[in-house]
Amino acid sequence: MCPPADDTQINGVNGHTNGTNGSRSEFVGVDITRATPRQSRNPYQPVGDFLSNVSRFQVIESTLREGEQFANAYFDLDKKIEIAKALDEFGADYIELTSPAASEASRKDCEAICKLGLKSKILTHIRCNMEDAKIAVETGVDGVDVVIGTSSFLREHSHGKDMAYIKKTAIEVIEYVKSKGIEIRFSSEDSFRSDLVDLLSLYQAVDKVGVNRVGIADTVGCASPRQVYDLVRTLRGVVSCDIEIHLHNDTGCAIANAYCALEAGATHVDTSVLGIGERNGITSLGGLMARMIAADRDYVKSKYKLEKIKEIEELVAEAVAVNIPFNNPITGFCAFTHKAGIHAKAILANPSTYEIIDPSDFGINRYIHFASRLTGWNAIKSRAQQLNIEMTDAQYKECTAAIKRLADIRPIAIDDADSIIHAFHRNIVAGKTNPAGSVLLPNMTDKERKALEEKMQEDAAVPEKRALDEVVDDQVHTEKVVKKAKANGIAA
Ligand SMILES: [Zn+2]
Repeated sequence: MCPPADDTQINGVNGHTNGTNGSRSEFVGVDITRATPRQSRNPYQPVGDFLSNVSRFQVIESTLREGEQFANAYFDLDKKIEIAKALDEFGADYIELTSPAASEASRKDCEAICKLGLKSKILTHIRCNMEDAKIAVETGVDGVDVVIGTSSFLREHSHGKDMAYIKKTAIEVIEYVKSKGIEIRFSSEDSFRSDLVDLLSLYQAVDKVGVNRVGIADTVGCASPRQVYDLVRTLRGVVSCDIEIHLHNDTGCAIANAYCALEAGATHVDTSVLGIGERNGITSLGGLMARMIAADRDYVKSKYKLEKIKEIEELVAEAVAVNIPFNNPITGFCAFTHKAGIHAKAILANPSTYEIIDPSDFGINRYIHFASRLTGWNAIKSRAQQLNIEMTDAQYKECTAAIKRLADIRPIAIDDADSIIHAFHRNIVAGKTNPAGSVLLPNMTDKERKALEEKMQEDAAVPEKRALDEVVDDQVHTEKVVKKAKANGIAA
């Protein structure tokens, strides 16, 4: 069995402890932020192992480098400064900038950001040659990320250099950058399609001359989590320096791959806000935070200002003219919205039942979607109480049935559900014997009124018909009974 992760464990022995070397949507529903406190222990917490850096990773935020390669991206200096300051406030360990050798504006922007005096270390990303390295160190950066293609594809069709040349140049550049007293990372490009022996011997050589980090890059997004784990783990056994991972998302594995890399001993993960980058981008900052908080909430919360994620994503989304995807971790408009009656009931009792992440850690509220035909009476009760309406449980159930009846006929808005709750309650106060017996919503078409009346007659004709939420109640009750029976050693 693996020992638990020990925060004092050092995976890199080149003078670096791993993870410590450097440093709304328009949808509105029932806000139950103040619901019952969650359990403090995450039942899915992974078992620690001695290689894992899941509890001591660092983020190299590359929105201003990789993100500049996104199809829609064009950041002027003001926008770059705004993004850099936001990332700094968030607590990004490093901010990576486009190579100053790329253009005169890139060089000036790099100098200007270095002068901001941010807490995040500033890196720039250059090709592996002395000309680029000299321009980079002059800008005032804290570190340089050097990259060169090592796959046969890139060696043949891109720069045309052999491995002996790559190794010699890499050592020359590393020694020069180190002589200037700043950090250096050496990375291969397209690492997963490079020859393993070539790759390991190159990394071993640069480790020997004291590189701070070596980088593995899945430049084409071809790697699977298992492949990432295997390569990082192998590399971990060959070098003593830190290991950085850069993962493209072509097959949707970027976040999972980053997690596996950390489990295998990587120390630094490259991210960009919303994952923007070349093609469909890389590991997203928000997505990585979601993954990592589920693994080690204390570490993630102690290092990063998670409540900033939403505003940083909105800032970048606007800058590159995209919407935040509906299924985005954390900030997707329905990331913490619960709809089905059985979910709503359980969430109202204890949010941990259907949430692995506490939205309040990110300054976000959870919502119960109560205006639908899948709603349950617990959600309606919670909503009615928000509206300062108190009724008996039997009345909440009857009111819920009225909302579900209408939701079977047409899509209903939150205002519609609220109007029904109010009208139903007014009928009770007025002493009506059948408070749901009339049309409770004013803004209905003739066709809808007719359909509703037919439905009400139908329901009245079948008195034994039970509402869905009553079935749900039964299911919950049955589950409890079965659980209890099992706990008592009775086979279910
Ligand atoms: Zn990339």
